[in-house]
Amino acid sequence: CGIVGYIGSKQAQGILLEGLSKLEYRGYDSAGLAVYNGETIGVNKSKGRLTNLQDKLKVRSLPGQLGIGHTRWATHGKPSDENSHPHVDHAGRFAIVHNGIIENYIELKEELIAKGYQFTSETDTEVVAKLLSELWNGDLVSTVQKTVARLEGAYALGIVSEYEPDKLVAVRYASPLVVGIGKGENFIASDIPAILKHTRDVYILEDGEMAILKADEVTLMKVDGSLVDRESLRVNWDI
Ligand code: GLU
Repeated sequence: CGIVGYIGSKQAQGILLEGLSKLEYRGYDSAGLAVYNGETIGVNKSKGRLTNLQDKLKVRSLPGQLGIGHTRWATHGKPSDENSHPHVDHAGRFAIVHNGIIENYIELKEELIAKGYQFTSETDTEVVAKLLSELWNGDLVSTVQKTVARLEGAYALGIVSEYEPDKLVAVRYASPLVVGIGKGENFIASDIPAILKHTRDVYILEDGEMAILKADEVTLMKVDGSLVDRESLRVNWDI
């Protein structure tokens, strides 16, 4: 029910946790993080409150400067550690967080199972992680475009990949997502309060738009690849 994401030069874990705590008002039943550590993507997630996740992170922290976080409000699959986000593909090359509902997930899941994919959760979301892997064509942005072209329903997605760890990709349709523009760091979130401590300059993504964040640059485009040229908004209120 809440998404945050960070790319920059600071440690992501604390920024993501703090961002998620600002989204607690949206309600949730589980929480999790995925952080790229320079080699692989580490995932830590837990059913229950953010404090449960924090306790797990005390045992196994997630170092790294690129990451995504999620608070889940279960729609498909009970609240459990396995069903918590982030979800990954089988080789752990992609990690994603998702708010919303993938309406055609059963059809996609059957198609992927027939191709040999194994699923570890009952969520609608996990098909997106596996589909990224199946459709991988050597380019993250175009693979995400091909993937979302197969999705029906509502989604705000935050995506990281070991293949292109200089990027954080966000895409939305019918679920909210904002991009925060920092200096040498950039952010995504479901809502502005999650990032307001770090920046007041934001883009509000519209349906069918995606954002490609690098540490020092944000590119907005439609999912058909055409560039979106829009002024950022300046947030002049406080929380
Ligand atoms: N439909 C997804 C799930 O049940 C995402 C729910 C959410 O928006 O938190 O895992």
